[in-house]
Amino acid sequence: MIKVRVELRENSYEIRIGQGLLPHVGLWLKKKGFSGKTVIITDSNVRPLYAAALERGLADAGFKVTVFEIPAGEEQKTLTTAGQLYQLLAEAFAERTTLIIALGGGVVGDLAGFVAATYMRGVPLVQVPTSLLAMVDSSFGGKTAIDYGSLKNMVGAFYQPKLVVADVDTLKTLPKIELANGMGEVIKHAVIRDKGFFNFLRKNMAGAMAYDTKTLKKIVEKNARIKAPVVATDEKESGLRTLLNYGHTVGHAVEALSDFQIKHGQAVAIGMMAAAKLAQRLGFLAEKKVKQMEELILAAGLPVNLPDLDQIEKETLLELIKHDKKVRDGKIRFVLIKAIGNAFISDKITPELIGEVLFDGKHT
Ligand code: NAD
Repeated sequence: MIKVRVELRENSYEIRIGQGLLPHVGLWLKKKGFSGKTVIITDSNVRPLYAAALERGLADAGFKVTVFEIPAGEEQKTLTTAGQLYQLLAEAFAERTTLIIALGGGVVGDLAGFVAATYMRGVPLVQVPTSLLAMVDSSFGGKTAIDYGSLKNMVGAFYQPKLVVADVDTLKTLPKIELANGMGEVIKHAVIRDKGFFNFLRKNMAGAMAYDTKTLKKIVEKNARIKAPVVATDEKESGLRTLLNYGHTVGHAVEALSDFQIKHGQAVAIGMMAAAKLAQRLGFLAEKKVKQMEELILAAGLPVNLPDLDQIEKETLLELIKHDKKVRDGKIRFVLIKAIGNAFISDKITPELIGEVLFDGKHT
């Protein structure tokens, strides 16, 4: 088993990565001093596959376990579902010390995290991610949220888990499109921070997309090692952590404009390519590197260009970009790369420039 520590003073915690880990979570939590009631929050796809192994280990370690299941899907990341979970927690007489365990993808993790952060002003949280995206991104770093109307992640809290357990065996049942979705963030981490990892991905993407467990384990570990120190340096996203938004300024706008028909990882992939082309235009990135990025993104089954231009209206897209959460004093804080592995924030990028690379030679 691999352990990566997220250093946040009294809020520090470990990410444990490996195979066959679910049955051990109970004992680990007992050793950490937890006892009594625990509530597993999971979704309708993940529960039948993985809840029993986790539950058994918790029961063997002396925990009283209750399982709350929500239907799978982003539509559940709402205040209404959070309200239903508060109600169930109250009915189960959950206390300040009751552990909430999020077992599932990023939707379960964000929602259960938000509920844990707010129920009784905060109960302990453990993340057990089962999607690649959740393992490499959403399960650690402390961002929890729900969507509000059409506004994604609009209401939330920074709330760190006590432990994260990524059992890569669970990825075997993850649909291919979800594997690709997570790979968007994986490629992003490599592109902004780690040239060696970028080259590793170029060699091993085919294996990873064929569910090779050893490769996936390496990928999850490497991502934790890249993101953990960034989060530790900048817990609440005032500086360094902004780099993690590489590809996201354009990505969020594409995602919103498609009414979330385009998945996050796909939208980020399109955004990463746009950012790479901008870096090339500004003389930072050689054409060869842009090409390598394109090949890697395609190998992960992700798009490199905007889809069906009939649906994507240039002005609307650029307007959405202007209103991104990351815009400050009217200036886009755009993440660019100087080279593979070396990202920085530029305020020189205008919506017009973005439009030029995104709609290069295409009419709208
Ligand atoms: P998801 O939770 O909807 O999971 C994707 C699908 O895969 C779901 O149908 C789920 O039931 C299924 N699934 C998950 N694990 C499985 C497994 N092992 N086997 C079979 N099916 C499985 O989506 P996601 O992509 O994991 O996460 C997306 C969410 O994460 C979004 O809401 C996004 O806003 C959020 N997010 C949060 C952060 C953060 O820092 N908090 C970062 C990135 C994304």
